[in-house]
Amino acid sequence: MLAHNLGFPRIGAKRELKLALENYWQGAISRAGLEDTGRRLRAAHWQQQASAGLDLIPVGDFSWYDQVLDMSVLLGVVPPRFGDFKDDVPIDSYFRMARGRAPTGEDVPACEMTKWFDTNYHYIVPEFAAKQSFRIASNSLFAEVKEAQQKGHHVKPVFIGPLTYLWLGKVKTGTFNKLELVDSILPIYRQILAKLASLGVEWVQIDEPILVLDLPIEWRTAFERCYSGLQSPAPKILLTTYFGALAENAVTAIRLPIDGLHIDLVRAPNQLAHVIELMPSDKVLSLGIVDGRNIWRTDLNTALSILERPAARLGDRLWLAPSCSLMHCPVDLDLETELDNELKSWLAFAKQKMVEVVTLKRAMNEGRDAVADILAASSHAIQSRQISPRIHNAQVAERLAHVNDAMIRRKDAFSSRIVLQQKQLKLPKYPTTTIGSFPQTSEIRKTRRDFKTGKLDRDMYITRMRREIKRAVRKQEEYGLDIIVHGEAERNDMVEYFGEALAGFAFTQTGWVQSYGSRCVKPPIIFGDVSRPAPITMEWSTYAQSLTDRPVKGMLTGPVTILQWSFVRDDQPRSKTCLQISLALRDEVIDLERAGIKIIQIDEPAIREGLPLRKSEWKPYLNWAVKAFRIASAGVRSDTQIHTHMCYSEFNDIIASIAEMDADVITIETSRSDMELLDAFVEFEYPNQIGPGVFDIHSPRVTPVEEMVRLIEKAQRHIPAERLWLNPDCGLKTRDWPEVESCLKNMVQAARILRERGDASATSA
Ligand code: GLN
Ligand code: ZN
Repeated sequence: MLAHNLGFPRIGAKRELKLALENYWQGAISRAGLEDTGRRLRAAHWQQQASAGLDLIPVGDFSWYDQVLDMSVLLGVVPPRFGDFKDDVPIDSYFRMARGRAPTGEDVPACEMTKWFDTNYHYIVPEFAAKQSFRIASNSLFAEVKEAQQKGHHVKPVFIGPLTYLWLGKVKTGTFNKLELVDSILPIYRQILAKLASLGVEWVQIDEPILVLDLPIEWRTAFERCYSGLQSPAPKILLTTYFGALAENAVTAIRLPIDGLHIDLVRAPNQLAHVIELMPSDKVLSLGIVDGRNIWRTDLNTALSILERPAARLGDRLWLAPSCSLMHCPVDLDLETELDNELKSWLAFAKQKMVEVVTLKRAMNEGRDAVADILAASSHAIQSRQISPRIHNAQVAERLAHVNDAMIRRKDAFSSRIVLQQKQLKLPKYPTTTIGSFPQTSEIRKTRRDFKTGKLDRDMYITRMRREIKRAVRKQEEYGLDIIVHGEAERNDMVEYFGEALAGFAFTQTGWVQSYGSRCVKPPIIFGDVSRPAPITMEWSTYAQSLTDRPVKGMLTGPVTILQWSFVRDDQPRSKTCLQISLALRDEVIDLERAGIKIIQIDEPAIREGLPLRKSEWKPYLNWAVKAFRIASAGVRSDTQIHTHMCYSEFNDIIASIAEMDADVITIETSRSDMELLDAFVEFEYPNQIGPGVFDIHSPRVTPVEEMVRLIEKAQRHIPAERLWLNPDCGLKTRDWPEVESCLKNMVQAARILRERGDASATSA
């Protein structure tokens, strides 16, 4: 039996690649310097994997930016605006495709970026043109294979398969079916395989994760055609699938003329029996038995009992691996010095996960006795986690058990609520507001940092934060905004901030995971039952309200978003953890109301991305996601107005559920798509109020008043004017004050013009 890995985090345990990339982009280091860092990281990562005892080491999982972009340059899929290359694509052109900009050459609009399946990793979307041609336009993969071989590693090159690659791309010019490109892309894949064969490569790993999706029939049948076309004596092909079950695609996948298949047993443990039954006697089955998407230590004894039957059936045709690439995990738990030992004993990062895979292999090959100590330690850790009083909170369980219908329903319907709300808020037509955050100046960041490191005491910290709040409130009054926010100066990150205040969360020092390019996130770890020991946002919101007669909007991050952007416990369903968070937030909402806050916004930007990969699982997910939002929000009086905010969301698929959330007002991103996003709201006849974003906060451009007026006039062709709000697309924390000032003044001016025009047409009518 053999142990291998699907991919290793490339960013480096201390984010070395991030630093090198950003230095290179800024011109602080040379290309040779950048390449040197890359080489050192690759060498270190290969060595770590070899030392852990893996039999096959992935090569090609390293990337300067993104593995899909790597595939595009490997296949010569470079849109013409980036240049016409006869030879290999230069690295600065590669960076320009990713970011629109590079140390040499002119700026060019970058390629689109979007989420990799249901992860928080973003890839660069391939762009296909009519008559798209392909050719090998990068030597990186082959050079890296040689580099690893020279170091004596037994390598397994890794790259994305033709169908997943085509699936992820977009037709940019012309109208044709992407599948038509199969015939012209296959010869290039054949060339890649031949080159690798000539390098003496025995196995390649071809990733086809789309096999866990609901595939249209023509895509499923394309697999057979495609892989028949790739058949060759060498190298052998291990086809990898992950993030879900093969289900109805299983027969197709297993019958392909390939030499091995990898399946994800963590996300889809139940597929094992079915797959084993279908397995022919000449193929390898690789089982993803260690969780590549989460940070929990594997229960090795349970894993071994799962492996018994397949081992008996397959013998040495059974391989072991993490469920997917480890790039979705932080690198090394050993670097954590501040987590307590108990909590630490429950965790495993990429480095520890490789040891787990190798331990399982040894137990299978040499018998459990050979690794008795490790197995004992594993079961000790697993047991300690199961019974730890830090994890289970009887009160939380009790509360969750008593969630009833009344708790998830506002007392009145929207139509009555809005009348009561209007009575108390007295808002003009086209009310103006923002999404919550104001510029996070370097001064604000420093204040937070100094407080965290103890340089600043609590009183001083509060004084300074109050000063920031006061400044934000006064500015908003000056601009003429109708609803004021406190500005979120105290928040480093919208999830981390709440996680730090809730019980059941832990934080790492180095738990970085690549989000896109050089950007990494450090998700909190939800390890136990979630509860709220004390109010979280009260002191800031009530202080802001004390400064102004205008209504101040309280600001919370919603339960689904907190869940989605954390490492979530694996010992209970995600839904349960989410509902626990929602109960904690419910208390916060009620406290805010009691303290005199009349409007409360619960941000849920991650609701759409939490949607499962398989459509059949959407409904249950949406049911609990909506329920969580309603638990959090429905505890208030009818005259308290609940807002929610979502950005980057495509709403068509989930608009009915968004309506079921029953927020009084929803603010969404629309300005970049010229209100196209609103189509879903129009078609569905969204019943409550809507604030379509009238300017793009991601761009430094100041949107002119008339453009904002035009956007709203476009919206009100379908949505009654009484239901429309004016607000930016998202929070303003990444902008500076002068930009914010111009944009918001324009927005208030746009609202005035709309009000006047409305009045004029009312009198003339
Ligand atoms: N209230 C948050 C802010 O204004 C919302 C951020 C988001 O939607 N991602 O920053
Ligand atoms: Zn947003």
